[in-house]
Amino acid sequence: MLPSLRLKKNEERRIKQGHVWVFSNEVDIQATPLKDFSAGQQVIVEAHNGKPLGMGFVNPNTLICARILSRSPKLELNKKFLKKRIQAAQGLREALFDKPYYRLVFGDSDGLPGLVVDRFGDVFAVQITTAGMELVKEDIVQVLDNLFHPAAIVMKNDTASRGLEGLPLYEEVVLGELPETLIIEENNTQFSIPVEGGQKTGWFYDHRMSRGRLQTMVKGKRVLDVFSYLGGWGVAAANAGAESVTCVDSSEFALDGVDINAELNGVTDKMSTIQGNAFDVLNALRTDGQKFDVVIVDPPAFIKRKKDFKQGAEAYRRINEIAMRVLDKEGILVTASCSHHMTRNNLLNAVQSAARHIDRTVQLFEQGHQGPDHPIHPAVPETEYIKTLFFRVSASW
Ligand code: SAH
Repeated sequence: MLPSLRLKKNEERRIKQGHVWVFSNEVDIQATPLKDFSAGQQVIVEAHNGKPLGMGFVNPNTLICARILSRSPKLELNKKFLKKRIQAAQGLREALFDKPYYRLVFGDSDGLPGLVVDRFGDVFAVQITTAGMELVKEDIVQVLDNLFHPAAIVMKNDTASRGLEGLPLYEEVVLGELPETLIIEENNTQFSIPVEGGQKTGWFYDHRMSRGRLQTMVKGKRVLDVFSYLGGWGVAAANAGAESVTCVDSSEFALDGVDINAELNGVTDKMSTIQGNAFDVLNALRTDGQKFDVVIVDPPAFIKRKKDFKQGAEAYRRINEIAMRVLDKEGILVTASCSHHMTRNNLLNAVQSAARHIDRTVQLFEQGHQGPDHPIHPAVPETEYIKTLFFRVSASW
């Protein structure tokens, strides 16, 4: 039997409605002191009257002090449990994609809090961000091995959020060997993925659908891909018939990746890269009188914590303003935000405010979301994070 974690009176309501996080101020610490639990320990979460609400794991050191894994207090987080949940996650992806390139597990949304698994064919990149998952790390590797017989599994446990859970940062190949080159396919375009040394798991699958939508709009156009990373948008656009594509990123490693991906798809002739701070590069392009028909702005999260909202929202406004300044007449601005705290409406307002400031009229004609391999948990708003807006930008009406 697992030990109990008891909630204060009336604190079970949110959990009963489907939420899966317990905050430390909701625990009855007289009955079950948080300090008696170790990080990652499995518990039965119970209401104040002792009625079990479900099974989960604890981290006494974090604001989210417990995460519910199952409504059944009889289950435990072990290989059998992991196998079932990973198979369920796989079922959804198999129904949606005909090639093995997708996010296989998306944390809370797949009932596996703190576990992300990206699949690049027979190479799997795993990212763990909770102490509870860290404790079953070896089981996760074994289950993936049994289910998929991968060529390699890499632990990409180098994300800063692990610090909050008291977990060390490291990157390690835990099974097999990474092939020298690892190629995936997305929107009929091939990409070489640098799992080692790359950002996050190595690739951002979340924009797949919007990148595909972009491909229908770029034939014969001059495209600028700002914050390009490996050219997820830009190389896809070049492959779909864009006349020229310029990728901008501050990272040389990322732009080397763009060159590799351009070559892979035979579009090197029409692609170029500019290394630098996007704000400076866009201003320099403007001073230089350069114009584009389509500009994509897909930055890193400018708002990581709620308290950074004001400053971050202003950064979104500013980058979109300078992006519009390098757009030719009747151009298309594709702008995205992966900050959960920047809502769709906030982003819409940022663009509208920028447009008014420089006397442009914008029409929102298409909206994109995170792809279906990043499902949303209706009770965990944080699992919805990507929004993409497509605007036509005209001289003021
Ligand atoms: N658009 C990419 C994902 C962007 S990730 C895709 O679809 O895959 C964010 C990228 O922005 C990273 O490659 C990072 O190197 C780059 N970056 C971060 N800050 C930057 C800045 N100030 N100027 C230019 N690039 C920046």
